[in-house]
Amino acid sequence: MAQAGPTDVDRAVAAARAAYEGPWGATSGRDRAKYLYRIARVIQERAREFAVLESLDNGKPIRESRDVDIPLAAAHFFYYAGWADKLEHAGFGPDPRPLGVAGQVIPWNFPLLMAAWKLAPALAAGNTCVLKPAETTPLTALLLAEVIGEAGLPPGTVNILTGDGATGQALVAHPGVDKIAFTGSTEVGKEIQRAVAGTGKKLTLELGGKAANVVFDDAPLDQAVEGIVNGIFFNQGHVCCAGSRLLVQESVADTVLDRLKRRLGTLRLGDPLDKNTDIGAINSREQLDKITELAAAGEQEGAERWSPACALPDRGYWFPPTVFSGVSQAHRIAQEEIFGPVLSVLTFRTPEEAVAKANNTPYGLSAGIWTEKGSRIFWMAQRLRAGVIWANTYNRFDPASPFGGYQESGFGREGGRHGLAGYLDA
Ligand code: NAD
Ligand code: MN
Repeated sequence: MAQAGPTDVDRAVAAARAAYEGPWGATSGRDRAKYLYRIARVIQERAREFAVLESLDNGKPIRESRDVDIPLAAAHFFYYAGWADKLEHAGFGPDPRPLGVAGQVIPWNFPLLMAAWKLAPALAAGNTCVLKPAETTPLTALLLAEVIGEAGLPPGTVNILTGDGATGQALVAHPGVDKIAFTGSTEVGKEIQRAVAGTGKKLTLELGGKAANVVFDDAPLDQAVEGIVNGIFFNQGHVCCAGSRLLVQESVADTVLDRLKRRLGTLRLGDPLDKNTDIGAINSREQLDKITELAAAGEQEGAERWSPACALPDRGYWFPPTVFSGVSQAHRIAQEEIFGPVLSVLTFRTPEEAVAKANNTPYGLSAGIWTEKGSRIFWMAQRLRAGVIWANTYNRFDPASPFGGYQESGFGREGGRHGLAGYLDA
């Protein structure tokens, strides 16, 4: 894949500026909506092609790209198409203006979906875009570029540049960019924040997480086990809001762990393009090494490691679903984002203790609560410091619902009406 250098970044930003000051800037909200609807419709029409390409590129199971990534990407364009002609009623004043040229850098875990999260609200609000997909997963962004071309958006409105961190860095540093939106690691997020400081560029950051999935003894346990599995093993655990720390009430800990292990024994790991596959490949050697290193640290620090009997294919990058029990809060596997199919199990006795343990993290992106008691859901939700909280479910996404973090998980919200704010001078 081509590596865009500073000259390419320059040209892309210049094209975006010209489109902003030219045809796209002159396009009414009603017409922007039509373009966004058109993009959404074409993604739907070409959904199979997108799904296969996404699984080939990323390693995720085709069932997930087909049923989650691609439909949600289309849903984002549909949703923001609806806002494009109603911005003056969105609660940002009578005539909110776009920011100008948005520079957008995205990760490899949900390549097309993250492109949709970035492009749809930016375009709805009237901005033009320069988007850089991750170096290991650029293919669906390039197909999306083709779709956007077919949808007839004026040239320069959306520019897609392939390349690695250096391309991202050049885009972030470019003086012609008015806004930076980034999703990725906390480490790079901090670097970007330093680079943008004092430049007047607007910034939103969606970074890592170490979410607590909290199971009380009155929860419907079979349902909770499904939620735990979906929380950490969906997309091989390459999910910023993954429920990577299971906090289970002591009185049901053994039962939950037994049922969880039995359930994990039924998961099928292997060929991402087989529609019966539950767990696909790890995206890169680099990521596999990171997961391997952190799992080894878990063992060294004294947690008990378990995986179901599970044959790994001999070609490609694979990691079996892994559960660590007897994890203490100080362990690295309880503190650091692993971004892989590895669950750390901790226990608690009281709701107060659950809150204290859940909040004992530098992150604050998401959390899950499992209980029959509605009052306890509200009690917990008020005390958990996380941007998104699911009750008796996990990893549910909807374009109408804002998503974002606290603390080292970043700032700004994507999705919903809130997601417009990051792209408006309001
Ligand atoms: P990363 O943050 O390095 O990469 C994300 C994106 O940023 C990619 O497009 C990359 O090319 C770009 N980038 C890298 N350095 C940059 C820089 N200095 N300036 C501008 N852009 C830059 O993430 P990674 O190295 O792929 O993964 C490392 C870890 O980050 C993972 O193990 C995981 O813990 C975390 N991660 C989190 C998310 C998330 O959704 N929050 C996504 C990917 C990775
Ligand atoms: Mn990196």
